[in-house]
Amino acid sequence: MTYNEIINYIDNEETGIAKGYSYQFLSDAFCLNTVKKIIQNDLNIFSEIEKSLLEIKEPLSGDFVIYGDNKIARLYKTFAGNYQISNGIGVYVSNGFSQGSGCVYDFDIEEQYRHCKSDDLVLTDAFKKGRCWTFSGNESGGGRGVYFEINFKVWKLEKCICPICRAGKLVEDGESIDSGICSKCGEQSYFQDAI
Ligand SMILES: [Zn+2]
Repeated sequence: MTYNEIINYIDNEETGIAKGYSYQFLSDAFCLNTVKKIIQNDLNIFSEIEKSLLEIKEPLSGDFVIYGDNKIARLYKTFAGNYQISNGIGVYVSNGFSQGSGCVYDFDIEEQYRHCKSDDLVLTDAFKKGRCWTFSGNESGGGRGVYFEINFKVWKLEKCICPICRAGKLVEDGESIDSGICSKCGEQSYFQDAI
């Protein structure tokens, strides 16, 4: 396979997955038919991975989260089972598994939204395509990574942080549907003022 042939093929491949491989990996495959087979196989693998991840009804690394004033970012699940919100992470996926890596601390996200627990996350009906990578043909090895976009679940961050101490969460006080008591400082505030 000549350089021009492979570049031309990569540029015109309709799903865009061809651009997700390292050039060396595809050129080593040498023959266009082999490249096409690798690509078809990996598209099937991504499709299976997408299905397996969407079936898991808990927040996963790589899932999207709507927070604050309708902003969107991705979830990073920590080893302790909590979550961080970031647009800087890389997302590795395999069947029924996803893992975030890289730049978890995102300075563009306001402090009060950077950390959350699964209780703060409400599943929406929406899906959103997100970038992720896996190993071509499910075989790990240097240069075998392939990037693609698959659908991820979308969550909504429903934090009710106390506007006074900014540490506790407002909990319904039973007196009025408009106000709640802070779980940390015990002060009463209105839900509309909560962060
Ligand atoms: Zn408070």
